[in-house]
Amino acid sequence: MNMIFETHAHYNDEAFQEDREEIFAQFPEKRIGTVVNIASDLKSIDECLDLAHRYPFMYCALGIHPSDCQPLTEELLEEIRGKLSDPRVVAVGEIGLDYYWDTTFRDAQKYWFERQMEMARDTKLPVVIHSREAAQDTLALMKKHRAEEIGGVVHCFSYSAEIAKEVVKMGFFIGIGGVITFKNARKLKEVADQVPIENIVLETDCPYLAPVPFRGKRNSSLYLPYVVEELAKIKGIDTEEVIERTAQNARRLYSRITDL
Ligand SMILES: [Zn+2]
Repeated sequence: MNMIFETHAHYNDEAFQEDREEIFAQFPEKRIGTVVNIASDLKSIDECLDLAHRYPFMYCALGIHPSDCQPLTEELLEEIRGKLSDPRVVAVGEIGLDYYWDTTFRDAQKYWFERQMEMARDTKLPVVIHSREAAQDTLALMKKHRAEEIGGVVHCFSYSAEIAKEVVKMGFFIGIGGVITFKNARKLKEVADQVPIENIVLETDCPYLAPVPFRGKRNSSLYLPYVVEELAKIKGIDTEEVIERTAQNARRLYSRITDL
């Protein structure tokens, strides 16, 4: 049976403190097969590593989110680099630019985005990119660093179909989650329609962005079937095909998993 591949979760978040185990226990019946847990700040790096070592279905990406990049130093970056050789680490992320939350530290964001892309190239890992209200700068830095040679995903994609095509041209994947079920998600539905299924991966970004009918509540991978259903409708294919194809894509994205 095909299993759903969850490419972007934050189970280290305190929102899961109480019942993390109970959620994980339901994964088999909801057909959640593999989960990649994504770090965002310095503290979460060790938490993500720890979770990835505790659960056989879980892997992790290590990196610093643009909104959390201010405490970063070259020494701390070296520390992170040292941890990337762990076989449970499958990507550098999440890294990128966020001009929505943080409008004052754009130069610092750009600097650490670039440094972490270089680190990904050096360690032969793909990147998990977070980009919000920063499409042009993100594309420019991806091009500057020849991101097509690094590979990766632009997660929780929030831009137009035109930008999506630029990203896909670089061989990148588009991460699609709960937002696709929102009534007002016209732009993302158009992206899902126009981007080839070969370039789409499933994600939650949980605990955030729960799909309808749980919009506004805490999200978890258990709700991914709602995303699968919506994507199947948009693509005009059945849900089994969505599950199978997106899982294949996720294995191409996080190729260290099949190397194990
Ligand atoms: Zn995230």
